Amino acid sequence: MESATPASPAPSASPLLKIRNLRIAFRRYGADPAEAVRGIDLDLNSGESLAIVGESGSGKSATALSLSRLLPEPPALIEADELSLAGHDILKMNDRALRKVRGKEIAYVFQEPTTSLNPVLTVRTQIGEALALHRPEIKDRDAEIVRWLYKVGITEPEKRLRSYPHELSGGMQQRVMIAMALCCQPKLLIADEPTTALDVTIQKQIMDLLVDLRASLNMSLILITHNLGIVEDVADRIAVMFRGKIVETGPTKEILANPQHPYTQALLECVPRMGSKRPRLHAIDYAEIERALG
Ligand code: ADP
Ligand code: MG
Repeated sequence: MESATPASPAPSASPLLKIRNLRIAFRRYGADPAEAVRGIDLDLNSGESLAIVGESGSGKSATALSLSRLLPEPPALIEADELSLAGHDILKMNDRALRKVRGKEIAYVFQEPTTSLNPVLTVRTQIGEALALHRPEIKDRDAEIVRWLYKVGITEPEKRLRSYPHELSGGMQQRVMIAMALCCQPKLLIADEPTTALDVTIQKQIMDLLVDLRASLNMSLILITHNLGIVEDVADRIAVMFRGKIVETGPTKEILANPQHPYTQALLECVPRMGSKRPRLHAIDYAEIERALG
């Protein structure tokens, strides 16, 4: 099924995020630009959650980063008929305005906390800097940091203020990252493979935490993952990406129960089933998918 319908939620006057015909290419020396994202449409309402699912290299992260122009331009070349976030025309904004959008409207949690946390700064300094930049009105910054550490499930948060990233486990680091992203109260959180680097038991805890926080903060969430097996309890809708395009989109339950596109079907086949002794790991039949794409 070629996706004629955009990944549309219930109609609303102005969605939080509106993407029309987004294209991202990367300049290459001595070759044509590499097209990473090839014309995608996406809408997201306030408080809604969407999973963007697809294998590595399908353009998920490039899409996410382009929403606040975090991709270096050049080599990236970002074009769209429309790219609006919380009423901002993202492609027309200058750096200064974009810095305000990051944090206030949109925040990110990435796969590797170690690449996002500064190893020489304490938890207090890292979260404190985010607060100073985006919520300067807060007088008692330490109290606010402790409040967020508590919210993300960090025990003895007062003690943790003075911790450096290496003194924390991977799961704890990811919780600090989440606290840092959420303390600015963004309208949209992008979690890009947030649990891929973590042990399976910790993965579940972090996903549960994201689900709880999204509900209690009434925030929108885009979960990016290559694993269709973790989206069921997290996302209202799914958009399946394949080679820079959205090939299928719809409510999570419908897609999981009745995937239409052969690529989605192949991704689902790759999910190890709970309770089955031997997970069925199928190779993806790319020839068939290419035929379906036409
Ligand atoms: P995903 O997140 O789905 O794994 P990405 O969005 O990271 O995929 O990448 C999509 C494509 O764009 C890949 O082919 C990747 O090599 C390319 N790409 C991503 N970032 C850059 C960059 N900074 N420079 C050049 N090519 C890039
Ligand atoms: Mg990625």
